[in-house]
Amino acid sequence: MFENLQDKLNKAIKTLKGQGRITEINVASTIKEVRRALTDADVNYKVAKDITDRIRDKAIDRKVLISVEPGQLFVKIVQEELTELMGGEAQSINIKGDPAVILIAGLQGSGKTTFSGKLASYLKKQGRNVLLVADDIYRPAAIDQLKVLGEQVGVEVYSEPENKNAVQIAQNAVSQARKSGKKVVIVDTAGRLAVDEAMMQEIEAVKRAINPTETLFVVDSMTGQDAVNTAKTFNDRLNFDGVVLTKLDGDARGGAALSIKTVVNKPIKFISTGEKMEALDVFYPDRMASRILGMGDVISLVERAQQAFDEDEAKRINAKMRKNQFDFDDFLSQLQQIKKMGNVKDLLGMIPGMGKMIKDLDIDNDSFKPIEAIISSMTPKERQRPDIIDGSRKKRIAAGSGTNITQVNNLLKQFDEMRKMMKKMNTMQASGKLNKLMR
Ligand code: GDP
Repeated sequence: MFENLQDKLNKAIKTLKGQGRITEINVASTIKEVRRALTDADVNYKVAKDITDRIRDKAIDRKVLISVEPGQLFVKIVQEELTELMGGEAQSINIKGDPAVILIAGLQGSGKTTFSGKLASYLKKQGRNVLLVADDIYRPAAIDQLKVLGEQVGVEVYSEPENKNAVQIAQNAVSQARKSGKKVVIVDTAGRLAVDEAMMQEIEAVKRAINPTETLFVVDSMTGQDAVNTAKTFNDRLNFDGVVLTKLDGDARGGAALSIKTVVNKPIKFISTGEKMEALDVFYPDRMASRILGMGDVISLVERAQQAFDEDEAKRINAKMRKNQFDFDDFLSQLQQIKKMGNVKDLLGMIPGMGKMIKDLDIDNDSFKPIEAIISSMTPKERQRPDIIDGSRKKRIAAGSGTNITQVNNLLKQFDEMRKMMKKMNTMQASGKLNKLMR
C-alpha cells in the first residue's frame, strides 16, 4: 500500500534528517521533492501544490531552521498536513434508524459486492442484526455472489431474481427488514463499467425511494485519477455521505486517497485491502499519514489482531502452552488465525520501519502453504508427539506434502525450539523471574 509514495517521500525527507545544518535551500528543495512525490503518486497537481505551500508556511512559522531537531519537526509537519488532506478526524457511518439503510453505489468491478459482505460482517460482529440486499437486476451472477458472501459471514441475503424493478426490490427489502426486526439493511446496487445516464437515474430513484441513512460510494483505488473523476460524477448526482477506497493492497499509487477528500469534500470512511472478508479497515487519516511516512501503524495492527483472534481459542492454547502441551494442531490453529488478520505483508507494513525493509520481499499468505501442507500430512499422533517422527516418517510426510526432507526437518527444528522457549518461559514464570525480566 502506497509503497511508491512512501519510498519517494522518505527519500525527500531523508536528506533533511541527515543534514547537520539545515538551510533554507535544503528545506526548499525538500518541499519541491515532496511535491514531486505527491504528483508522481497521482495526486492532482493543484492539491499537491496547496499542501506543499502549507508545509512551507508551517515550516517557517515553527522555525524549523533553528529548531533542535529540524528533520523530526519537518516530518511532523508533513504528517499533520497529510492527515488534514485526507480528512482530519475519522468519520463513522450513520447506522441510526429502524432499520438503518445503507446504500452502496459505484462502478461495476469497483468492489461493491465484496465491500457489502465485509460491511455486513463488520456490523454483525458489533452485534447488529443485518440484512444484505442484492439489488442488481442485470447480472444474475451478482445475486449469487452476494449470496455466497452472505453465507460466508452468516448474514441473510434478500433477493428477487424475477423482479426487474430495482426500486421495488429495495423497497420490499426494507419493509421485510422492518417486519423481521433487522436493524441494518445494506443495499448492493448494480454498476456499469463506466458512468452512464441510465445507471445514474436508477440509483437516484432507489435512493429517493428508500431514503438511506448512509450512502457510500465505492471506488477502486487502482484507477488513479479516474477514481477522483468518478467520485465527482457520483457525488454530483447522489450527494453521497462517504467514500470506500478498495484494492489498496495492490500497488496503487495512492493519489486517490489523497485527493478525493479535497475534490468532493466527502470523507473516506473505509478502506479495503484484499478479497477476504476480514480485509476491511475504518479509515483513520492520521494513522494512514503515519503509514505513508513509514512510521507504521501499530494501533491498527493491534485492532486487527483483536478482531481476528478467537478469545476462547486463545485461552485454550495459552493453557496448553503453560502445561508444555503445545502441539502441531495448536500451531496450525494459530497460523490460521494469523491468516485471518489479512495479507501478511500488509500486516508487517504496520510495524514502524518495517514497510521499507519488506518492500521487495515476496511474502504473501501462500508463504504458509508448505508449512500447512507438512502439518496436514502428519498423523494425529505425530502432531501431538513430534518426537516420534523418525527418518521414514519424515520421508512419508515430505512426499505427502509435496515438500522435501530439508523443509520437514526445518519445520520440526523450529517447532522444537519454539517449544523449548515456551518451556523456559513457563519455568521462569513459575519462579517469578519472568516478571523481573519483563520489568
Ligand atoms: P462490484 O462489481 O463492484 O460488485 O465488484 P466486486 O465486489 O465483484 O469486486 C470485483 C473484483 O475485485 C472481485 O474479484 C473482488 O474479489 C475484487 N476485490 C474487491 N475488493 C478488493 C480489494 O480490496 N482488494 C483486492 N485485491 N481485490 C478486491
